[in-house]
Amino acid sequence: MLYRMEGIVIRGTDYGEGNKIVTILTPSHGKQGIVVKGARKPKSRYSSLAQLFTYGDFSFYKSGQLGTLNSGEIIESFRELREGLDAAAYAAYAVELCDRAVGEEDAGSFLFHQLKACLTALAQGKDAQIVIRAFEMKIVATAGYAPLLDECASCGRANGPFRFSTLAGGALCDGCRYKDPTALELGETTWKLLRLFAALDLRRLGQISVKDVYKKQLRLAMRKWMDHHIGVKLKSQNFLDQWEKMAELPPAEPRAPRRGAAEGAPDDRPPAEDRSSEEPPAGTFGKPSDGEPPGESP
Ligand SMILES: [Zn+2]
Repeated sequence: MLYRMEGIVIRGTDYGEGNKIVTILTPSHGKQGIVVKGARKPKSRYSSLAQLFTYGDFSFYKSGQLGTLNSGEIIESFRELREGLDAAAYAAYAVELCDRAVGEEDAGSFLFHQLKACLTALAQGKDAQIVIRAFEMKIVATAGYAPLLDECASCGRANGPFRFSTLAGGALCDGCRYKDPTALELGETTWKLLRLFAALDLRRLGQISVKDVYKKQLRLAMRKWMDHHIGVKLKSQNFLDQWEKMAELPPAEPRAPRRGAAEGAPDDRPPAEDRSSEEPPAGTFGKPSDGEPPGESP
């Protein structure tokens, strides 16, 4: 049977000689696997269509699990996402989340539009950390694990201060704090942003300027939440985690020309190719604020 639908390529796997199997996320038919014959051959009409992040119109035959591409057109290539290292890292993480953190039954129109908005925002150069944190919130909501942020997840008390507890399910009031000693202390700005992300449709995300200290809290809170509730190890995640930690390092001494790595200087380059050698130890995110006080917004 011939199907035709729009979709975004969220995974590509080499297959046989010169072929590729792509997984597309569609607004109407969940995720679909499609064989694109000859996609890796230089002269193929469909090599660009089969690239990661491409938003296209796919027409394919399908009888069993996998479809076979009949024809297709690119609607938006998101070329910008392949040009910069950090945009590519964030976009790769976003599509891998859709591929691996969301079950087939939850991959619907909402997720499709949030991913498309996420890639668009990244391509437009909006603050990638903010875009991706908001997208993570969409992912956990889609998967059925949205945190409770407006009241204590344990006793229902509506006024804070709260801590952020993955074990309790979101906000945890002073009276219930003892139930989760690992709960994170977050600044008021961070709470506001978490609530904003929870309510936000990414298609309406503007340009928000957020101080680094709150970005870091957002990162730690969402990472902890995702590790606990989603719990899949993503290939793109190590790289992104290191990239983001790198961005948080205080600017080191004025950059003298590197005198070779032999002197034991800390390596200050982004981890370019080697994504596998350094697994961040699990559970390093328990401390709310290593060094940085969870300040309030001015
Ligand atoms: Zn409580």
